Formats: sequence, C-alpha cells, structure tokens
Amino acid sequence: EPRIGRDDVIKGTDDDAIISKLSAVDLGYLDDPFVKYFVKRPSRRPPLINRGSYLRTASLDNLTEQFIKTSVGPSTFPVNKQIVSFGCGSDTRYFNLKKNGLSVHKYFEIDFPESTAKKAVMIKKNKDFTDVIADPDLKLGLGGTELYAKDYCLLSGDLREFTETIVPKLKAHGFDTSLPTMFLSECVLIYIQPQDSDRIVEWVGANMDASLFVLYEQINPTDAFGAMMLRNLHARQIELPGIHAYPSLKSQEERFLSRGWLAAKAVSMNTLHDSIPETELRRISNLEIFDEVEEWQLLAGHYCVAWAIQARQGPPEREDER
Ligand code: SAM
Repeated sequence: EPRIGRDDVIKGTDDDAIISKLSAVDLGYLDDPFVKYFVKRPSRRPPLINRGSYLRTASLDNLTEQFIKTSVGPSTFPVNKQIVSFGCGSDTRYFNLKKNGLSVHKYFEIDFPESTAKKAVMIKKNKDFTDVIADPDLKLGLGGTELYAKDYCLLSGDLREFTETIVPKLKAHGFDTSLPTMFLSECVLIYIQPQDSDRIVEWVGANMDASLFVLYEQINPTDAFGAMMLRNLHARQIELPGIHAYPSLKSQEERFLSRGWLAAKAVSMNTLHDSIPETELRRISNLEIFDEVEEWQLLAGHYCVAWAIQARQGPPEREDER
C-alpha cells in the first residue's frame, strides 16, 4: 500500500504554501501577524509567486468576508454561521478575520493528525493565538491532535473518510446542518481521488440547509505549461488526481451543478487579477519589480477559484433521518 508514502508528500505541501505566504507577508503584499509562527526557515519567493500568493489569499479572504457579512433572508437580525476549512494546514484565516472583528458561530478546521498536532500545540502555547480565541476553556484533545474552543475547533481526520469519520466528528463538536455554512478547500480536493472529493460535494449539497462552497486549485493540465507544471510536481512525487477530473473552469462548475447545486461559478486567477481595484494594484506594484507579465498570465491561467451555492427547498429530508 503506497498510501502512507504518498500521504507524507501531500502533508508536506502545506510547508510550501506557508513559506510562500510568509514571503508575501514580509514584502508587504499581505497583512498577517500569525503566519510567521508556522515557518521555521523563511525564504523569499520570486515576484511571480508572491503575486500569486497575494491574489489567492486576497480572493479567498474576500469571499469569506462576504459570506460573514451578508445577512440571510429579509430580516437583518444576525444569523449564526459556520465555516468548515478542509485541509487547513497552517492556514491563519480564522485568526486574521477574528482579529479584524469578523467571526462566525463556529469555525472548524480539518487536516491529517500530523498536521493538526503541530498546529494545535503552536496555537495553545502562544498568547497571540489564544488572545484571539479568547476562550478560557480552550483545550487540547485526542492526544494533542485537536483543539476545542467556543467558536473554533481544529479537528484531525482523513477527508477520504468524510461521511464515516469526518461528519460524525464535526457533529460531535457542535456542527449544525441547519446553519448557513461556508466550506473552504484551498488547494486540497485536488490531492484526493475524484470519487472521494465528489462524495464530499454530494454530502454537503444534500445535507446542508444552506451552503457556500469555495475552492481554489489548479486547472488546464494538458497545455504545454500545464504539462510542465505536472512534471515538476511529479519530480517531487506530488500528484494531483483531481486535476484530470476537473481540468477546466466549465468542469469545475459542473462538479457542483451535476450534483444538484443551485449555482456555480469558476474563474481563473487572470480574471481575478483584472478585478483588483486600481489603488490596490498600484500598491502591490510598488512592492517589488514585476516584469514577468507574460509568465504571470500563463501561470495565473492555471489556477482557479470556484464557488457554488446550495439551499434546501421545501421540508427538510436528512440523510440521517431517512
Ligand atoms: N489549505 C491550506 C492552505 O491553502 O494554506 C493548506 C494547503 S496544502 C497545499 C494541502 C493540505 O491538505 C495539507 O495540509 C494536507 O495535509 C491536507 N490534506 C490533503 N489530503 C487530505 C486528506 N485526505 N485528509 C485531510 N487533509 C488532507
């Protein structure tokens, strides 16, 4: 069973993501006082990568903020909401949002136990994190691989065992299928076989009363640049099984629409780059020399953000009540 070896490589992809994020933070692209705690050996990335990290984080932040701020239904009284982050790695979004006054009823993060153990210990011992969580009852669990607080739960598990393991675990920690919930997958579903990621999309679509799914991942594996990207990853033993099932913007939308979701939209990072406000574009352009415009467009055309919404119509009919 090569699963163990391959899983170790996949767990390592978080180190890459977080080093790149710190590079973008240190140069002033992003404001994030928490990411530095997760990087042992900081390394300055090239301008192309910094711009990519910036756009990825800013775009997903933007969607998350909209989800938190938008009121649901005609009334304006606040509705409890949840966020579930799949394959969270060292993601710091919960901390940045809450520090900036944006929080939800429950924010769940899920990753393999090896990843969550490191994160849980780091958070638990560091006042910068615990001050934001602001819960005197914050505690470690399951041999230090999990962390539980009033509005934040870091949970360990394998997303390939979603309905058997992850869903019951979420529910045991207060996850409520009747609350509007955002599911976030930032460079995660692409690493698991489509039959496993499809089960997640299907379960969410069928069992939540109202949900928003946001994902970020690679596309276009078959053109010259895409093939090179896959070869480079392959040399590091990283495979992207999901990219062949969802290789285009259209198929990213179809992965939701064919499973009964109400609406779905996928855009490339080029499109999102075009929508950066003028003043913000000027600000990041002043941070470092950036003249690889053609390379950037090529790279950005190989990543996308997709989002989909689903809302239950009619009387609830739950999987677990059938
Ligand atoms: N979402 C984070 C971000 O964007 O900074 C981390 C992205 S990293 C590229 C991929 C993460 O997904 C890793 O932390 C890895 O451990 C996690 N992951 C991949 N497959 C998983 C699985 N089957 N179950 C749980 N976590 C998984």
